[in-house]
Amino acid sequence: RALDELIAGQEKILTDRTAGSARLRAEARESLAGGVASAWQDSPPVAVWIEDGHAAHVRDVDGTDYVDLHGGFGVGLAGHAHPAIVAAVTGRVRHGTHFAQPTRDLIPVTRLLAERFGLPQWRFTNSGTEATMDAVHLMRAATGRKKILKVEGSYHGHHDSVQVSGYARVAEDIGPDDRPRSVAYGPAYPTEITDLTLVVPFGDLAAVERVLAEHPGEIAGMIIEPVMMNIGLIVPPDGYHAELKALLHRHGAHLAYDEVKTGFAIAPGGATELFGTTPDIVCLAKAMGGGIPCGAVGATRALMDRIADHTYEQVGTFNGNPMMLAATRAMLTEVLTEDAYRGFDALRSRMTGGVEAALRRYGLPGYVAAHGAKGSVIFTERLRNFRDFLAYDDRWGHLHWLYQHNGGVFLPPWGKTEQWTLSVQHTAEDAERFVLNFERFAAAVHTA
Ligand code: PMP
Repeated sequence: RALDELIAGQEKILTDRTAGSARLRAEARESLAGGVASAWQDSPPVAVWIEDGHAAHVRDVDGTDYVDLHGGFGVGLAGHAHPAIVAAVTGRVRHGTHFAQPTRDLIPVTRLLAERFGLPQWRFTNSGTEATMDAVHLMRAATGRKKILKVEGSYHGHHDSVQVSGYARVAEDIGPDDRPRSVAYGPAYPTEITDLTLVVPFGDLAAVERVLAEHPGEIAGMIIEPVMMNIGLIVPPDGYHAELKALLHRHGAHLAYDEVKTGFAIAPGGATELFGTTPDIVCLAKAMGGGIPCGAVGATRALMDRIADHTYEQVGTFNGNPMMLAATRAMLTEVLTEDAYRGFDALRSRMTGGVEAALRRYGLPGYVAAHGAKGSVIFTERLRNFRDFLAYDDRWGHLHWLYQHNGGVFLPPWGKTEQWTLSVQHTAEDAERFVLNFERFAAAVHTA
């Protein structure tokens, strides 16, 4: 109850300071479904309308300045209006923005992706959803098998095969902990398709082995976030990925990493580099394009031959569009340098240290899970998988978000699900503001 009162008080402050956003939303509702451009732009009690962004800050339509750790749901490694991105994109605009024909940047960009992620061949998409859709299609096309494996609670975008057993819609019957049931994300997704997606708990090799054994010759492959985000941040047990790949290969199935969030954020070559296991497919998006809509799929030569020979027709009007290529090239050569990753490490250490000290000082449960530019405060002692995630109180995460927001730090909303994203333009001062807000939150909870 005390927590609810604190939440109500902070929500009131937030609502009062975002009156301009509320007015615009009310006006927009007439012609824009729900008054937002995408479902998760709504962050109750408000949707904050943004006016502009510079460096590591954003300003909303009420004129409030925030340190931006929302990062556009993980896109923001460059920060806003980074000079290298501005130069690359404006330079490109002057020479035409779309031809639906190959342009020269394709060659250096695919070579740079191959270097970072250790996979020889690439294709482009315009979103993470399309990238994971291509990965699933490619695994099916290459094996002639229909079923795929996915982790319970993971999000891979909004196509039919992966809108299964996600967090936003938890059914009453989700099955036993070690044998989760496939639950379709609402009536838009036919169970004829979603039933082809079998779900397993994160980090549990025995469950994968059992499902593979129960469906011999039927499973095309597994799609997985190698570090699970979208339910906080979960690092798998040691050696998990190498064993997972070997296990899938023994059954003639493929391993696809969804590195849409982890991609360039947790290491230069993402989880693929961090864990030292190269999967059969890597999906990228978000940060890659420096804020321009983007996506990419890399794979082994054997798999990519199925695209080259049209077994799977990987296609799209905007695929490999010149704007995205120019921005991606700048990201890979000028923004995401070795220095950038040193900077992420320094700021992340300060934030993690500050939060964990405050948790201890005020006797609150939890820890920080963080890698590279990403991190999340986990308000429970142990978070290993979706079932652990469901078992703890979402109100902590929401109240923390409110305290950060009202203290001038924009974190991604939705309580305990999201992560912060650092950019190359954040400063020590920005990290201090985050820690200070956390201390205020922790002190308030402690006395409540
Ligand atoms: N995969 C992961 C891991 C994601 O976090 C997201 C988006 N949050 C997606 C895929 C989908 O990407 P997009 O929103 O660009 O379609």
